[in-house]
Amino acid sequence: MIDGRELAVAASIGIALSEGGDETADDLLRNADLALYRAKAGGGGARRYHPDMHAGMIERLELESDLRQALARDEFFVVYQPIVDLRSGRVSGAEALLRWRHPRRGLVSPAEFIPVAESSGMIVPIGEWVLRQACRDARRWDGIPGGERLSVSVNLSGRQLQTSELPSVVPQALLAAGLPAERLTLEMTETVMIDSNDETLALLHELRRLGVRLALDDFGTGYSSLSYLHRFPIDVIKIDRSFVERLTGAQSATSLAASIVRIGQGLQVMTVAEGIEDQGQLRALRAMGCDHGQGFHLARPMPAAEFETSIAEWDRYRPAV
Ligand code: C2E
Ligand code: MG
Ligand code: MG
Repeated sequence: MIDGRELAVAASIGIALSEGGDETADDLLRNADLALYRAKAGGGGARRYHPDMHAGMIERLELESDLRQALARDEFFVVYQPIVDLRSGRVSGAEALLRWRHPRRGLVSPAEFIPVAESSGMIVPIGEWVLRQACRDARRWDGIPGGERLSVSVNLSGRQLQTSELPSVVPQALLAAGLPAERLTLEMTETVMIDSNDETLALLHELRRLGVRLALDDFGTGYSSLSYLHRFPIDVIKIDRSFVERLTGAQSATSLAASIVRIGQGLQVMTVAEGIEDQGQLRALRAMGCDHGQGFHLARPMPAAEFETSIAEWDRYRPAV
């Protein structure tokens, strides 16, 4: 019991045995460390070292050390995927998605490097960089007809919410770019709510007081609980791609997406459907009353310059919604 709160503590153990006897103490410690890492990743308990653990770890360590230098070497860039108002068919904003141009590996997907950035803590400076970049880019849209009303969405990792700097980093990024807070949406996944404590909740309220909007990303994939939705100051629900994917199938699948849209309407939050890949899905979502949509069928993520051009041309070339 700490401060009246009950904490559960687990132990993890990594075991390495000397096989031939020619390992150094450092080798053994490193192997035990690898096994320990695996034990932790598996939720605790004891694990014995196996040589296969080595290859995976080397790869990860390499990625981690490259990641540490990527910011300084200017290897990151942000692409933008348009978010479309399903009623009017007009672009309402864009989601900023991070890309890493690795000197040897080429383009590394965020699915691969974000988890490494999170576990190493690198996500904090990287996330701040994305935020600043996205605010600057969004400010530039002002110069384009129709661009001054567009909002930009930035993904936040749970790790970033645990740092105390966020309440100053966000207004600083907005101020430096000259972007009004109303035009910034911060996306976070449900895990943030599950792992959250009173401090996180206070932080979310603070961000919202600044005028920033908060979105719940990948909704429906975590342990969504309606009571969480009620407790957290959320403005937008992003319906996960897995529900949109099933829209072409059976009726029951369709009703799942429709239920989420109704939850959104009931709570008076905006709904955004993710991963719309065909006209049928688009039509179904629109019929349900889903507010906004995003997906390859509407537009793929694109470099900042291309997105700027597309704002002006969108009305001419926009897909039939
Ligand atoms: P997310 O925030 O849910 O972003 C949506 C992902 O779906 C993007 O993948 C996007 O390219 C992809 N997508 C969009 N439309 C379609 C579609 O029609 N079909 C399919 N199959 N996919 C579609 P991406 O860019 O690879 O990003 C993956 C995830 O990485 C993001 O999921 C987000 O969780 C994370 N991520 C990206 N950038 C950042 C960042 O700056 N910070 C943090 N913390 N996470 C980021
Ligand atoms: Mg997102
Ligand atoms: Mg998502």
